[in-house]
Amino acid sequence: MQHRIIVLGAGYSGAIAAGRLAKRLHREDVAITLVNAEPDFVERVRMHQLAVGQELKPRPFSEMFAGTGVELNLAKVSGVDVDRRTVAVIDANGAEELEYDTLVYALGSGWNAQGVPGTAEHAHEIASRPGALRLRERLARLAAGQTVTVVGGGLTGLEAATEIAEARPDLDVALAARGGLGDWLSPKGRGHLRKVFDKLGIAVHEHAAVTGVDADRVTTADGRAIPAAVTVWTTGFAVHPIAEATALEVTGAGQIVVDGTMRSVSHPDVYAVGDAAYAMGPGNKPLRMSCASGTPAAWQAADAIAARLTGGKLPNMPIRYFNQCISLGRKEGVIQYVTADDRTVRAALTGRLAAVYKELVCKGAAWGVANPTLGMPTRRRRVARERATAGSAVKALA
Ligand SMILES: Cc1cc2nc3c(=O)[nH]c(=O)nc-3n(C[C@H](O)[C@H](O)[C@H](O)COP(=O)(O)OP(=O)(O)OC[C@H]3O[C@@H](n4cnc5c(N)ncnc54)[C@H](O)[C@@H]3O)c2cc1C
Repeated sequence: MQHRIIVLGAGYSGAIAAGRLAKRLHREDVAITLVNAEPDFVERVRMHQLAVGQELKPRPFSEMFAGTGVELNLAKVSGVDVDRRTVAVIDANGAEELEYDTLVYALGSGWNAQGVPGTAEHAHEIASRPGALRLRERLARLAAGQTVTVVGGGLTGLEAATEIAEARPDLDVALAARGGLGDWLSPKGRGHLRKVFDKLGIAVHEHAAVTGVDADRVTTADGRAIPAAVTVWTTGFAVHPIAEATALEVTGAGQIVVDGTMRSVSHPDVYAVGDAAYAMGPGNKPLRMSCASGTPAAWQAADAIAARLTGGKLPNMPIRYFNQCISLGRKEGVIQYVTADDRTVRAALTGRLAAVYKELVCKGAAWGVANPTLGMPTRRRRVARERATAGSAVKALA
């Protein structure tokens, strides 16, 4: 009897976890199913590029997972029952229930409107492909001189504002940030950011907490009105509500609380990775929602599942940060080096070289999805018989 592993979500973390499990475990012993709503891999880190009209390389899962032993199930997950160990999915043929012995939850996140009035009606988002495509269509219809205001001074906001300003120099692009522009960066990184923003003619509204969005402007807590024919909302990500509706232990924001092996602290046959997971990282701080965290978390989860099923040694690979990579259009960038626990250090790489570096990082992230063991030889281990038969047996070995 095969041990049934279901991975929900084929973004960076889910796709990597599924591929790595397939390369760690013997095909006769496990049935690995990867459930995803869409048939191709979405490079979320390039959504701002998609929004300004760039074409992204198509990455169909059928090609990426061909011959790996991972079975693809193209369906939308509508619910999870962690007590019955089932997943409810809907596809073109209707609703279905899938049973698992081990579940890897990797459904990622979407935009976070933070309940600000007017966002749902008037703001655009770039946390998803449909959102980026809608913005792309809207930007294409904007006449010269019209205003685009990006709300959010985090990494996504900086990337979006610069990408739009570079692609459409005829538009008036502005950025509204709650704090100062790039205020967490080193002096070198911050200085370069300011230089690029000036060069691209982006108006910067600092200490601007946006409290309302209308069809033609955003308003701030201190009464400023910033013109915005188009508002792009980038103030962080929010997880999908599916986990929250289960018996899993989740945070107030709906992320699944996991231990160092990415296993749910409440349900040992469930693992969570990527944006959907709440795991403590270096410095006892929660991992930040990013590929930089999701990728090593996926390795950790897959290796832990494989170890528990085969009686191997549990992985003990501390997740750490190295840098924050920010593209500022296609020709500029800032690579801000950080400590293991993500604190800024003085060193930063800027300019053209930083743009090239960031492009390599994005390419590398997509390559990592297709090569989850980093191209190293794979060794498929046999699952111990008693571990394969039921999740409860695995639980007992935890
Ligand atoms: C514009 C932008 C730039 C970014 N830049 C960076 C960067 O430079 N560096 C960095 O580290 N991070 C960056 N990020 C963040 C990064 O993209 C996310 O943290 C990362 O994608 C999270 O990976 P994930 O696997 O958890 O989720 P996702 O990549 O979101 O994947 C989730 C998957 O689940 C699927 N899914 C969701 N709901 C369902 C459902 N109900 N049924 C079936 N399938 C479903 C989705 O289709 C998707 O395939 C950026 C994000 C954006 C939007």
